Amino acid sequence: MVDPAQMERAAALIRSGGVVAFPTETVYGLGANALDPKAIARIYEIKQRPATSPLIVHVSSVNMAKRLVKHWPPAAELLTAEFWPGPLTLVLPKADIVSPALTAGLSTVGLRMPNHPVALALIEKSGLPIAAPSANRFMGLSPTTAEHVARSLGDRVDLILDDGPSKIGIESTVLSLAENKATLLRPGMISRAQIEAIIGPVALPDSIGTAHPSPGLHERHYAPITPLYMVEKTSDTPNSGRGVYLYLSDAPMGTHSIQMPETPAAYAEVLYNTLHLCDASGYDWIAIETPPDSADWAGIHDRLRRASFR
Ligand code: AMP
Ligand code: MG
Repeated sequence: MVDPAQMERAAALIRSGGVVAFPTETVYGLGANALDPKAIARIYEIKQRPATSPLIVHVSSVNMAKRLVKHWPPAAELLTAEFWPGPLTLVLPKADIVSPALTAGLSTVGLRMPNHPVALALIEKSGLPIAAPSANRFMGLSPTTAEHVARSLGDRVDLILDDGPSKIGIESTVLSLAENKATLLRPGMISRAQIEAIIGPVALPDSIGTAHPSPGLHERHYAPITPLYMVEKTSDTPNSGRGVYLYLSDAPMGTHSIQMPETPAAYAEVLYNTLHLCDASGYDWIAIETPPDSADWAGIHDRLRRASFR
């Protein structure tokens, strides 16, 4: 819970160009007034994020989203009715009031209505759409608790709102509706199949040479500081140094290990916190038993692949 006085203070900070870290159901965000280029510049500076990486805008209603775009296609109407508030970001042609500083010069903007009472109250009380990337340094592990934010950015933000751990635990699914074909730019816990059930076929950027990949999605991203290896079984873990093994079913003998939850939802919820803990413990390596290769694990696979990319 965030008390009302704290909430008022946070909203006043947003209105006056400040930067406030706040909880959402995916990860903690680093928020500022999405319509103020100076406030946006502070986010980039605090995160050390390159200007080529666009920010997502958080809204508290479909109406607020509509004011930020040129067109609101039928697919957006259907998807927001089904999945908002929730972990789905839609990329649409931006309205003129949206600054290119926010979209990294693109003519499109990413929008999401978070399913979190504190995030929604902050947007509503400030009366503004809030630009917010994850509240961590560029390329690092996303924060799922206020302590994670405090550790990496504590001295650089105006305020951190704490409402406990994020329930979804990994970043939103990003879907572009800016071109004729709906394109999945980043997998997440709302799956491609769930989206296709509502709007029909969804393309992948790789499978259709024409669509531009999402800028800001790097091969290496979402990574702990400790080297991370994806392995098939216990015997594949590195044999030098002091490591920790995050396993699903293949319990090791004589190694430091942590058993991970069996369902994708429960796994995603604890993944980043587990990696943060392993990072803080000073291991030489982290090995992860590769999760099943089924569609409901796609978002987790994507993050693990980027976190272990070298
Ligand atoms: P983060 O806020 O850290 O979860 O990252 C947001 C990600 O959403 C960016 O890295 C982009 O990949 C994607 N994104 C945001 N806005 C756009 C846009 N206008 N076009 C394409 N991808 C976007
Ligand atoms: Mg991020």
